[in-house]
Amino acid sequence: MESDALLNEEFEPPGCPAGLAGGESFSGNFLPPWTEADHQPVTAAKAHRFKESRHAREFRRRFFPDTTDKEWRDWHWQFRNRIRDADTLSQMILLSEDERQAFLHPGGALPFAITPYYASLLDASDARQPVRRTVVPVIDERFHAPGEAGDPLNEDMSSPVPGIVHRYPDRVLFLVTSICSTHCRYCTRSRLVGNNVRNITAEQWDRAIAYIAENDHIRDVLLSGGDPLTLSDDALSGLLSRLRAIPHVEILRIGTKAPVVMPQRITPALTRMLKRYHPLWMSIHVTHPDELTPEMTRACVRLADAGIPLGSQTVLLLGINDDVETMKRLVHGLLQMRVRPYYLYQCDPIPGSSHFRTPVSRGLQIIQGLQGYTTGYAVPTYVIDAPGGGGKIPLLPAHAVGRDNGDLLLQNYEGRLYRYPDSETAATGIH
Ligand code: SF4
Repeated sequence: MESDALLNEEFEPPGCPAGLAGGESFSGNFLPPWTEADHQPVTAAKAHRFKESRHAREFRRRFFPDTTDKEWRDWHWQFRNRIRDADTLSQMILLSEDERQAFLHPGGALPFAITPYYASLLDASDARQPVRRTVVPVIDERFHAPGEAGDPLNEDMSSPVPGIVHRYPDRVLFLVTSICSTHCRYCTRSRLVGNNVRNITAEQWDRAIAYIAENDHIRDVLLSGGDPLTLSDDALSGLLSRLRAIPHVEILRIGTKAPVVMPQRITPALTRMLKRYHPLWMSIHVTHPDELTPEMTRACVRLADAGIPLGSQTVLLLGINDDVETMKRLVHGLLQMRVRPYYLYQCDPIPGSSHFRTPVSRGLQIIQGLQGYTTGYAVPTYVIDAPGGGGKIPLLPAHAVGRDNGDLLLQNYEGRLYRYPDSETAATGIH
């Protein structure tokens, strides 16, 4: 039975993880070579049969030998035993000099934390491994480039009450917690995440809910943070029921990375509870195909079976997922998990993020490499969240390339030109 003891509270750092043999230190890449099978998303039918992926089993055997199956599969255990310092991490992976220096001289506000499960996905010897780069700090975080800002989207300026960002007329972002189980190094809300001082209080929840209730044009509430799925079932249920009781709130959404970094969080009890608050949608933050494990598949299957429409949000990251082949593997794997690729974000200019940012042309090339070459459902919308608070602006490769004798000239995905007899020249504004 699920324990609901965790109500948005930080645990003490675990120090040396339970079961890590005293004095044991890194002695090479403990992982067996990654095989194709490790990265194959499993079908819904098979998902319930998987208990633990091979690399997670190996990792647990080595670093948490006394941990039981029950503990490993308990999200509270995963959260309590997060790896939060260089000493503990360096017993699991060989830190590069760059990473070691970054721990000694942190560059920004975001602390370090990863769940044991997510740590099992890291390559122990290759500091360039994409998944590892997303969570292990490097010294580049100390370099602040022009145009970077702590709150690049100006969310604080669009906040009528603490915890609410009201940018678009009919919907609000509700930051319900500042806690995440695993910290992404490129986090847009690094000014807030992992910072206990700024954790959201019950009184702020009350004010935020009152604001939503008083503004009857708000029909859509997106819960985010931090990660709302670090809240206990009871706390989340209480929040959802209060929002559901507001007559003009039509849909509720949750933005989370839990199915990716702590899939143990997606329990049958959680999905049973979430089902009570339909229509409820979920956006899952996914970065790379290496994250598409049997554990994540099982989490997504449970959510989808509970009738929750699933979309993915992916941040475009330099050297991590910024090529067509990687992105294709990611979006194809997601569709097999019943997750619709939703947004591909240009990386926001938070301080110390320039080593993650690609030119915008790279994002357009990726969309061009997907559009027409794969299922339409697999193609996310590429957006820049406009610095300063302009909202999401979609970017598309140009397909309407001109006009000739009243015809609209269109370029297809292979670069071939076609004509469309378009009589509404004036209305389209394309001349
Ligand atoms: S899961 Fe989201 S909110 Fe949490 S650290 Fe990552 S990007 Fe930031």
